[in-house]
Amino acid sequence: MLKYASTRAKSEALSFDEAIFQGLAPDGGLYLPEPFPPYNPKLKDELLATDSFAKVAEKIISPLISGSVIEEGLLELLEEAFHFELPLRLLDEKQGLYVLELFHGPTFAFKDVGARFMARAFSKIIRQRSERILILAATSGDTGSAVAQGFLGVPNIDVCILYPKGGVSHLQEQQITTNGHNVHAIEVEGRFDDCQALVKKALRTYKCPEGFHLSTANSINISRLIPQATYYAWAYNQAGGALNYIVPSGNFGNITSGILARQLGMPAKSFTAAVNANDVFPSYLQSGKYEPKQSLSTLSNAMDVGAPSNFERLLHLFNNRNDEMNANISSLSVSDQQTKEAIKEVYEKYDYVMCPHTATAYHNYKWLRNNGKAEGKTAILATAHPAKFGESVFNAINKEVEIPEKLAVCLTKEKKATSISANYEAFASIIDDIIK
Ligand SMILES: *Cc1c(COP(=O)(O)O)cnc(C)c1O
Repeated sequence: MLKYASTRAKSEALSFDEAIFQGLAPDGGLYLPEPFPPYNPKLKDELLATDSFAKVAEKIISPLISGSVIEEGLLELLEEAFHFELPLRLLDEKQGLYVLELFHGPTFAFKDVGARFMARAFSKIIRQRSERILILAATSGDTGSAVAQGFLGVPNIDVCILYPKGGVSHLQEQQITTNGHNVHAIEVEGRFDDCQALVKKALRTYKCPEGFHLSTANSINISRLIPQATYYAWAYNQAGGALNYIVPSGNFGNITSGILARQLGMPAKSFTAAVNANDVFPSYLQSGKYEPKQSLSTLSNAMDVGAPSNFERLLHLFNNRNDEMNANISSLSVSDQQTKEAIKEVYEKYDYVMCPHTATAYHNYKWLRNNGKAEGKTAILATAHPAKFGESVFNAINKEVEIPEKLAVCLTKEKKATSISANYEAFASIIDDIIK
């Protein structure tokens, strides 16, 4: 059985099933496989010979869940979780530039991939136990809706979504606050980092009654990252060879998933983390110092993170070495002005509309190319549908993006949220009420 150990190495190593229930390790660290499954030299050929997304996903996920109750029936679980397309679109043939569209799931952002897998894994594991679970998720926008959708109506599981007041778009807020049933929306007077801090504190200190667990659906939880490793391999399969990957990054869960896929044996040419004005990561690459900051608000709000939670995982994977991190990931900070220009350029050049997050990756692509670092084929990960950020897109290209019908339905529903200040006691009393 594969074991998961904390990056801080002070907590007991657990099975996959226990580690995802735990979420954050008791020592405050994050779980990673220990030892990592052996590098599979055959994987590069096996992935190319595979003909469906679910089968590619199975090859990537199997070694990471060995010993879990979800091993049995894994392919069926994956087929059901990933019932939407994840197309690799060619944007520029001459330059070998592709866009990997990850936004065709129910909430129109890539977070559906992690959340839908996670909800199914939790539901299968909890069916074997007579326990209840409350899942906490801080969101800067897209996590909340994906997690709410993923877990809506799952028996014996409640979900608390914490979002920063005024920090998410109207559409995102409607997606988070109109679900009802087992989904509880909490509007926090503060920023995303405050929401994340409340979740972390509850996981560390809240005393649950017998038979009750708290866990997290943030990318702190390894069950979000594992499924995301699959689409890197799918892009490799579709392109017929190794790619440069450019990943719009906030908490760095997505790019960590790509690194996991490569550790298993999936070939990759390079990884680049595109960030907005929240530039903690590129600053670390340059200076060797990791200095978390207060987050700044930008057009790419799902990336407004001043203390990326998966940085600790990346550090661990690269042996706490700045030179190794630099050898494996490059990163450029992109301003709002550059983001707008990128949206406009892509629209004019390719008649293709990108969301602001994806546009930061396009800006990084141009930077790589100008520095001779985008040899061969490159995939930009498109993390959200542009209609989710219609206003910013409109300001860049002066054209309305049509809102898909499936996305528009939440606009007519009534908002239900509890408002609190960024105060732990207030949050804990909401948990008390849900548990009662
Ligand atoms: C969450 C999100 C990101 C950032 O992903 P991380 O895994 O936190 O780095 C980027 N773009 C969009 C649209 C998102 O929703």
